[in-house]
Amino acid sequence: MNDASPTPATPATGAVKPSLVGATRAGLADFLRALDLPEREIRMRVNQLWNWIYFHGARDFDAMLNVSKALRAKLSDRYTLARPEIVTEQVSVDGTRKWLIRMAQVGAQKPAEIECVYIPEADRGTLCVSSQVGCTLTCTFCHTGTQRLVRNLTTAEIIAQLMVARDRLGDFPGLAAPTDGLVPSGEGVRAVSNIVFMGMGEPLYNLDNVVDALGVMTDGDGLSLSRRRITVSTSGVVPQIGDLGARSGAMLAISLHAVRDELRDRLVPLNRKYPIAELLAVCRAYPGASNARRITFEYVMLKGVNDSDAEARELVRLLKGVPAKINLIPFNPWPGAPYECSDWERIEKFSDIVFNAGYASPVRTPRGRDILAACGQLKSETEKLRARARLAVE
Ligand code: SAH
Ligand code: SF4
Repeated sequence: MNDASPTPATPATGAVKPSLVGATRAGLADFLRALDLPEREIRMRVNQLWNWIYFHGARDFDAMLNVSKALRAKLSDRYTLARPEIVTEQVSVDGTRKWLIRMAQVGAQKPAEIECVYIPEADRGTLCVSSQVGCTLTCTFCHTGTQRLVRNLTTAEIIAQLMVARDRLGDFPGLAAPTDGLVPSGEGVRAVSNIVFMGMGEPLYNLDNVVDALGVMTDGDGLSLSRRRITVSTSGVVPQIGDLGARSGAMLAISLHAVRDELRDRLVPLNRKYPIAELLAVCRAYPGASNARRITFEYVMLKGVNDSDAEARELVRLLKGVPAKINLIPFNPWPGAPYECSDWERIEKFSDIVFNAGYASPVRTPRGRDILAACGQLKSETEKLRARARLAVE
């Protein structure tokens, strides 16, 4: 399917018109300055555009009735309100949606394709966004890490994932919700209420753009998400963790996965640079962490590798003094993966030990496995995978 707006029209110069969608306030001001708007008008015009783009989800400059006709004409002459294209959409039997999104081409680069997953529940909807195309880290249980093409997404490309999702889910005034899957609805319930940076890429290797994107996503005059409902997951880039907290106020999730350096070195190779003790030290100092705002520790359950009772007890010991919750993630297999998921009884036993030590230890229900949308299954080399996923559910 392909229901996103068309590729931006090509003006006479042959250059592609830039889209205003995804711009920060400072970015919008620059776009307006380029139209020779007097400086004294810029602030007011930025506020108007902001409201149309991020509150109303406007797709057409002509809808902007409080903007003069002359300025609307100038805007549409130079810019668009185009979103990146949804190349494919897959809807899982459990209502999870996975979109393959093709970003507009930047210069001579191959157009970036990333995956974005929407996970609906009765009272909330979580969007799992990507921060990079691929990932330079090579965690051995993660499919994304096997992808070769890697680059940082721009601020606009990160924000555009939320815009595309809200368009598609009918979550802007005047749009209808899709009828082919669960989208939470009701008084005060938003289709996208939560965001997790758990798609492709290591968000702390793209910190500036992630922080700017968070600023736009949480702006009360626009997209208006709560900072407490945005979680950034990192494999443990120690020097950037404090900065993330200080600059964004986002919730933090740490991909821990092992309690001994020797094993974590193998599962998450970044551990060789930033070992467990250093990682936990910066978590203890994370700005704003408290019992009401706990740090999530993600722990993927790998059969016979990290799932023993002794490791569960060690996990509890290590996290002493950290306001933590522990999220056990059943390993999601992908073609050629060198691990298996722990048996269900093992996961329950592990979870009991953690729970009895006083930690919430929800086991993350795998969502969207049939469409390879679950954690760590994302990879945009999708043609091949789509075929395999189809086989898996047939
Ligand atoms: N790079 C960041 C965020 C993206 S990965 C990070 O590593 O935290 C999001 C989460 O999915 C991480 O906790 C990651 O460890 C986990 N994950 C990766 N591959 C997985 C797999 N095959 N099964 C289950 N979880 C996986
Ligand atoms: Fe990158 Fe996270 Fe996957 Fe590791 S788990 S390879 S850091 S996306």
